[in-house]
Amino acid sequence: MNAPDHINPEQLLSILFQSPNATAVYTGSNIKILSANAAMLKFWGKDRSVIGKNFTDAIPELIDQPFPGILREVWDSGITYYAKNYPATLEIDGELQESYFDFEYKAILNEKGKTEFILHTAFEVSERMAAQKLVLEKSVSEQKLNEELSAINEEYTATNEELSSTNEELMTAENSLIKLIAELHDKEKRFRFMIEQSPVAMASLKGENLIVDIVNDIVLNIWGKDRSVVGMSLPEALPELEGQPFLGILKKVYKTGKPFYGNELKVSLSNNGNLTDRYLNFVYHRTNVDGAEEHSILIVANDVTEQVLARKNVDEINTRLEIALDASSLGSTEVHLATGVMKSNDQFKRNFGFEPDEEFVYADLFEAMFPEYREKVKALVQESIRTNGIYKAEYPIKWRDGSTHWIQANGRPRYDENGKGDRMVGMTLDITDKKLFEQQKDDFLSIASHELKTPITVVKACLQFLYRIKDQPFSDTHTRMIEQSVKHIGKMAEMVDDLLNIRRLSEGQLQIEKKYFNIYDLLSNTCNHIKLENKYKLIIQGERSLDVFADEHRIEQVVINFVNNAVKYAPESYEIIITLESEREYVKVSVKDFGKGIEKEELPKLFDRYYRKDHSGKGYSGLGLGLYICSQIIEKHKGEIGAESVLNEGSTFWFKIPISEPII
Ligand code: ADP
Repeated sequence: MNAPDHINPEQLLSILFQSPNATAVYTGSNIKILSANAAMLKFWGKDRSVIGKNFTDAIPELIDQPFPGILREVWDSGITYYAKNYPATLEIDGELQESYFDFEYKAILNEKGKTEFILHTAFEVSERMAAQKLVLEKSVSEQKLNEELSAINEEYTATNEELSSTNEELMTAENSLIKLIAELHDKEKRFRFMIEQSPVAMASLKGENLIVDIVNDIVLNIWGKDRSVVGMSLPEALPELEGQPFLGILKKVYKTGKPFYGNELKVSLSNNGNLTDRYLNFVYHRTNVDGAEEHSILIVANDVTEQVLARKNVDEINTRLEIALDASSLGSTEVHLATGVMKSNDQFKRNFGFEPDEEFVYADLFEAMFPEYREKVKALVQESIRTNGIYKAEYPIKWRDGSTHWIQANGRPRYDENGKGDRMVGMTLDITDKKLFEQQKDDFLSIASHELKTPITVVKACLQFLYRIKDQPFSDTHTRMIEQSVKHIGKMAEMVDDLLNIRRLSEGQLQIEKKYFNIYDLLSNTCNHIKLENKYKLIIQGERSLDVFADEHRIEQVVINFVNNAVKYAPESYEIIITLESEREYVKVSVKDFGKGIEKEELPKLFDRYYRKDHSGKGYSGLGLGLYICSQIIEKHKGEIGAESVLNEGSTFWFKIPISEPII
């Protein structure tokens, strides 16, 4: 067998001719082409006519390129030359084109060590070069993309941090992201790398069956799965999606090629066997690989569960707060201290006598406030900003209609990012009724002590006087002192009774025990103390045979109160007429006197708790409770109470109660 360097040129040529590799054989210092196979001719863009020609004559475009020189070098030195990725410009189809080659000029030596042939083999590596170049370019663009991605992601995170910020922005960010990625996918196989490195959740599903092709850890984390899902179809990988809309949407995207944007969609995913709900912003985007039969769907998702839940929580709290504010008639506001702009709820404005659609600013608040309270409230606000404490204040305000109202306000400062108090969050409550009531109560206490003090003083004086004359024989003076004492003790007892009744009323202990009784008989037998006194004439008129279903004792209490008041406040009226009449299912009892009468505007107030006309100097004792207690008794009977009066002619106090037990 011949050694390779003694190969018979004919043999060599025939072997080389079979080779799919581009091959040529040269000889001589002029590099005559002995042979070139089809692959080599194709590289050169020449036909078989070049065989037998010198290299530079055959391929003149190579004269100015290094190859003839290298070949000469190899011929002269007998040293094989090898090159990789070497560019060559060749005329192909009449056009000069640059291609890249790996090639070898192998010196085949004769027995004297002199070059006999040069064996030229070449592989075109233009594609590889182009690919490498592309890879290089892509990796630059990828880096750019990665930068963009992380910039987008940063923007994303920043956006997400702002709970209320719009998701639209996110969608735009995702949109540009998806475009970049899709672009890359269509052209570039390093898509896989891209997905795996992506700072957002990404996956690629292949084909109609949605085979999990590429996933990154972020997606796996959302899915609660590991890499074993790769190669499964999505319904296999995530069986819990059955019955949820996603598979349907994916199929549609696959079919139509129209991307789908999901905004805060809830997906239930199984994590260690437990179904957990997550909220996702995501895009399904079909990528079309040129010429490929199958498409892929690229999924880019962002888990927004925390934000959604936090927002839902805030919404829920806000709703509850609104309900609570509404139910308690609480006004709420946020004042921007520098601008005085207030964001207030409707109730807040109403508390200050403004309509909900009217503008109400901080200055209006102080304008409404009684001047003597303004500085005090301002100081409280300042103090609460200083101490980050809650301020509490109660102040009267004047509405634009001139009416006075009381406001209870609580507030707390809010601070800007520099820690400067810039806002005040406040709550207000209209406490006018409470204030009025407190006022009445205070008034009542002073009246009550004053009223009780009068008889006590009289009784005390009588007793002191009696003590002084205790050793003297019993006289008219003794009798008068005792009578006075008894009378005033009686008044005190009455007042204490009223106080006790009021206490019972406010504790809801006024018990009504109803039974049938004849009301005419009750009226005839009551008020014996007055009849005995013989100073007044009690006339009773009306139906005699009327039985009513009521609390006899309490109804008598009301009648006695009316009659006592007639005696007390209309002493000049000799006659007091009690009338009994039935009005359909009601019985009406009126007590009429012929005294001085009551002013019209006084009438509705008489039955209010603690209401008492100023009788100073006239010696009427009383706590202003009697008629209020009467009204409560009648109310318990589901009846009505009222008074009519004509000045200087007299007054009529009346009540109506149902005659019989109501049929339910
Ligand atoms: P008081 O303990 O002051 O009597 P009442 O509730 O019984 O309290 O009465 C309230 C007010 O109604 C009295 O202060 C009085 O001014 C007025 N009043 C009640 N009855 C009469 C009457 N017959 N004539 C005039 N004024 C009356």
